[in-house]
Amino acid sequence: MNRLLEQNGGRVLAFGAHPDDLEVGAGGLLARLAAEGADVTLAVVSIPSNAEQRKREAIAGADLLDAELFILYEDRPCRVEDIPMHELVRRFDNIVGDVRPDLVITHSAHDLHWDHSLVNRATVSALRRTPCDLLAFLSSPEMNAQSRSIGQCFADITKTIDTKIQAIAAHESQASKLGLESSRDLARANGRISGYEYAEAYEVLRVRI
Ligand SMILES: [Zn+2]
Repeated sequence: MNRLLEQNGGRVLAFGAHPDDLEVGAGGLLARLAAEGADVTLAVVSIPSNAEQRKREAIAGADLLDAELFILYEDRPCRVEDIPMHELVRRFDNIVGDVRPDLVITHSAHDLHWDHSLVNRATVSALRRTPCDLLAFLSSPEMNAQSRSIGQCFADITKTIDTKIQAIAAHESQASKLGLESSRDLARANGRISGYEYAEAYEVLRVRI
């Protein structure tokens, strides 16, 4: 990742199953990379329900992170598991071809939400011929208590924790289940572990040094 940061900011591509997943799981690092000059693209796969409102919220969240937003299936409500894997990989292939990312961030295969692990699978397939760094996140760590913990890589998000919380809060329809305080608490706990004030934890799937 150091190399990424040295290369004119680089290009970052993040895959999320649903609106709000990326803000919750990786919002601090995405905002930080954008602030450091990277071109950040968010690819959100599906909107399960309440499409118009959730689309507006996704746009607001991406704006706060200073990222470009693509919603792959915005014309019809669906879940990731409704989409055939070969079709999903083809759509991911196209985005990877367009963005030519230096760093990709995606869901962890260990995420207990089935849609999230499907996005991991499609990401790994779509990157089979693309040399880039690859990190994975748990979008709702407090709901993944049984999952294998992720602590291979910590990103310092001290400068962007407030932006991350604002970007999560942009998803007003999800406010009841998105604990803003718990997101801040988790970032503080990850910071304690890693020596930063606030941090996000990632699983390292591929890093070029
Ligand atoms: Zn989700």
